Amino acid sequence: METIIQAVYFLTAFLFITGLRRMASPATAKSGIVWAGGAMVAATLVTFLSPTSLSTNLVLMIVAIAIGAGVAWVAAKRVQMTDMPQMVAIYNGMGGGAAASIAAVELLRSDFESGGLMALAILGGLIGSVSFTGSLIAFAKLQGLMSSRPIQFPLQRTINLAVLAIALVIGAILLGNDALGLIFLFFLAALAFGVMMTLPIGGGDMPVVISLYNAFTGLAVGFEGFAIGNPALIVAGTVVGAAGTLLTLLMAKAMNRSLWSVLVGGFGVEQTAGAVQGSLKPIDLEDAAVMLGYAQKVIFVPGYGMAVAQAQHKLRELADVLEAKGVEVKYAIHPVAGRMPGHMNVLLAEAGVPYEKLYDLEDINPEFPQADVAVVIGANDVVNPAAHRQGSPLYGMPILEVGQAKNVIVIKRGQGKGFAGVENELFYADNTRMLYGDAQSVLGQLVQSLKKLS
Ligand code: NDP
Repeated sequence: METIIQAVYFLTAFLFITGLRRMASPATAKSGIVWAGGAMVAATLVTFLSPTSLSTNLVLMIVAIAIGAGVAWVAAKRVQMTDMPQMVAIYNGMGGGAAASIAAVELLRSDFESGGLMALAILGGLIGSVSFTGSLIAFAKLQGLMSSRPIQFPLQRTINLAVLAIALVIGAILLGNDALGLIFLFFLAALAFGVMMTLPIGGGDMPVVISLYNAFTGLAVGFEGFAIGNPALIVAGTVVGAAGTLLTLLMAKAMNRSLWSVLVGGFGVEQTAGAVQGSLKPIDLEDAAVMLGYAQKVIFVPGYGMAVAQAQHKLRELADVLEAKGVEVKYAIHPVAGRMPGHMNVLLAEAGVPYEKLYDLEDINPEFPQADVAVVIGANDVVNPAAHRQGSPLYGMPILEVGQAKNVIVIKRGQGKGFAGVENELFYADNTRMLYGDAQSVLGQLVQSLKKLS
């Protein structure tokens, strides 16, 4: 039996790693998820064969799995694509909470093979707890249950560091004295630190912090895997921890922030600059269609609004019509456009846009001056020149330099601000025209108008 269990764990590790590898390309990503998911099911099933599972709590485990899987199944089926980041945040948090629970149970049982393993369990408990409550706050911010702006108060950094220090000191004491009261205080401090660490983070830094908690959860799971001697947990945890760490660093780089400055928080506080000068200049559909139809080069800049409107198919149709007229079409993809890493890539791939037409920020920015028209579809923060101005919540974030195109058409419903809540002066520029409406319906009407033009 033990050989079968270990063999399945080995296969699981192999599938996790190859699954992750396949997720690196949009063409193979779906199968990568199926492989890794299959591995997770196999690891869960085989765990039932272990003597400790068979002898204890079998019914409780099955009931818990049925409830958890049932809730997750329904929630995942119902979730809108635009709400995915919250969903990722809450699932992440559950992983961290599960790792912290393992640590709590093991500390209560106090049956560690060595002090080293106990230290790993404590560390995993700390990181898992921080990830649990931190992810819950991130979820609440993204779901609109609380303000997404940074929440700050006097002496915040000092108090936060003090709470972390308390958790670390109690954790160290636990190595020699694991009294129930101390275990309780340890988890209380760790859970409180997760909340306090996330409160001052807001605006555009949320993606970085979500992916950081992803890495934390992986680390915590890996540590608990060592503590209870479970290879599947060690491998899954290490893979998630490593992938999450890389993603965090990439996201921080995309936002032009150091990880430290994100963690210390405070970005996204009130804008200091005055009101934007100029006026918003609307354009009607026919004029926009003529401008596009007679262009030589058009760059599309999709953002969160395209995802909300599910306008990717209409965008592809518009691109097809333009290309049939001999217009050169490219797509500019900002690394944090939308609400999750790769959001635009996934949606455009779903609509069948060839991958080689999507251009990263560094590659497309030099091309804007040659574009006759840049069409912004429900993007705001990622094209906001306020990012160049010190004191702005977006300061330092690289943006798509859309304003350098000869003409800019911005499709959005009204005067709604972007995620960071900052006014956008691009919309007031002389070469910008506003085309108001829901992105899907506006793009659909543009396609019809262009078909009539010939
Ligand atoms: P923004 O959220 O800045 O702006 C979206 C714009 O879309 C709004 O101004 C809104 O204006 C418009 N819009 C909304 N619905 C529609 C619709 N149905 N049709 C047309 N337009 C619509 O989007 P960006 O993509 O530019 O920026 C992403 C932001 O999200 C960044 O600040 C990023 O940091 C943050 N973020 C990113 C994550 C990621 O991983 N990618 C995760 C979490 C946050 P109006 O209401 O007037 O229509």
